[in-house]
Amino acid sequence: MTAAQPGVYIGLGSNLGDRRGMIQRALAELDSAPDVVVAAVSSLQETEPCGYRAQPTFLNGAARLETPCEPRDLLERLLSIERALGRTRGGPRFGPRLIDLDLLLYGARVIHEPGLTVPHPRMHERRFVLEPLVELDPDLTLPDGTRVHDLLQALPG
Ligand code: ADP
Ligand code: MG
Repeated sequence: MTAAQPGVYIGLGSNLGDRRGMIQRALAELDSAPDVVVAAVSSLQETEPCGYRAQPTFLNGAARLETPCEPRDLLERLLSIERALGRTRGGPRFGPRLIDLDLLLYGARVIHEPGLTVPHPRMHERRFVLEPLVELDPDLTLPDGTRVHDLLQALPG
């Protein structure tokens, strides 16, 4: 990995309708941009909802992208794909969604801006985020040097 091509990872989630189909459409949409390549996609796994529990089971995974897009631009694209695929906001936080696309990691970049925090602030405690990341790259590290593999080992249960 070079500085010009940092490891960019996104989280994928859906718990309504054709969940696998929604995730595939989102990835196809991302990949259709001339400056984004979906380089690798993890397996998708069933996840019990966290936070707001009275909702259907999620399908979750992660993907590695190759792109020169700045993080903010990438986030805007993720949010616009969520909108295009019919996700509406206004339900309960962490509630049901057709598609959830999160920017998890952007190489070694640490970002704290209104509306954009990278690494994603809740990824450390979420098995359904950490497992697909380790599947994509067993040696992946966070900007502070922590191995994602070690975070996973440290999770309870
Ligand atoms: P969550 O994914 O945590 O369940 P949402 O998908 O509803 O929540 O995201 C709400 C907001 O989180 C987005 O509008 C976006 O501005 C903000 N946000 C901040 N950092 C990130 C990030 N790294 N990835 C995705 N969204 C982020
Ligand atoms: Mg999100």
